[in-house]
Amino acid sequence: MSQHFLLSKEYRNISLHSLMRMADEELFDLIRKIRFGNSTALPCTRCGAIDKHSFLKSRKIWQCKHCDRSFSLTSGTVWADMKLPLSKFILIAHQFCTSANGISAIKVSEEAGVTHKTAWVIMHKFREVLIRTVDQTPFSGEIHVDGGHFGGKPRSGQFRPSQKARYAAAAEKLAGKTQGVKRRGISKANFERKKRNRRIVMVVRQVVPGEGANRTRVFLSSGENEAVAKYIAKHCIVHGSLVRTDENKAYDSYKSIFTHETVEHSREYSTIDGVNNNQAESFFSRLRRCEYGTTHRMQATYMIDYANEMAWK
Ligand SMILES: [Zn+2]
Repeated sequence: MSQHFLLSKEYRNISLHSLMRMADEELFDLIRKIRFGNSTALPCTRCGAIDKHSFLKSRKIWQCKHCDRSFSLTSGTVWADMKLPLSKFILIAHQFCTSANGISAIKVSEEAGVTHKTAWVIMHKFREVLIRTVDQTPFSGEIHVDGGHFGGKPRSGQFRPSQKARYAAAAEKLAGKTQGVKRRGISKANFERKKRNRRIVMVVRQVVPGEGANRTRVFLSSGENEAVAKYIAKHCIVHGSLVRTDENKAYDSYKSIFTHETVEHSREYSTIDGVNNNQAESFFSRLRRCEYGTTHRMQATYMIDYANEMAWK
């Protein structure tokens, strides 16, 4: 079993402590090296010409020697025209990248000394970049596929499900006079409203036996059905791969395209031969913690962004 990434040295290679001790020039150099590399010759983000473009120190921009237009550290990225000081941006970037279960925009806004809106927008721009740069080459080898329900959890109403029968009788007696009766009246609507926000996150993971998953892709759907399973098979997995799923009927068509092995989840997590799709379950565990602990309410509008963020992590 290989070491968990969060325990490795690579996870700590740029600590928040070291970032906060850096001067503005050092932070600028760090980002320049990450984006353009160590060389003094840079590619112009406008025309692509690689040269030693002249640097205007006061404005921290380069003037292209070929097209005569200027470009900055963030030109051509989603953060172009950003007004935020680099030190605050780097702090937000660091928190976004290193928080294993995600981090709330509220918390980041407090740490960076910016408004909630600013932190929220910057972090969603990160998520946008992750979506735009998803590696779409199909998976091969051992693949785990599964679907998980997220968002829109219906409330049971005033009473716990196990206590409903006991309290329902008491509430009947006071019909029209208690809050309890009123709440029971709208519980159906409440259920339907919450259910509208519910989605299925489909996950596909490429597994290296003994090491865990090394690639993950996510899809959003309204049901774990055959159409979605076929879409994933067509766009995401190389024919002839070993695909492991649960006993859901949606994956029945996989038998003709892949080496398809199933585990009956109503009975066991892994068969006696070691057939399981636990890497998919592991992803859901991470996303569930993000939903319960960080976002609290995962709206359908942004669910693919959060799911893809967790897939990247
Ligand atoms: Zn140029």
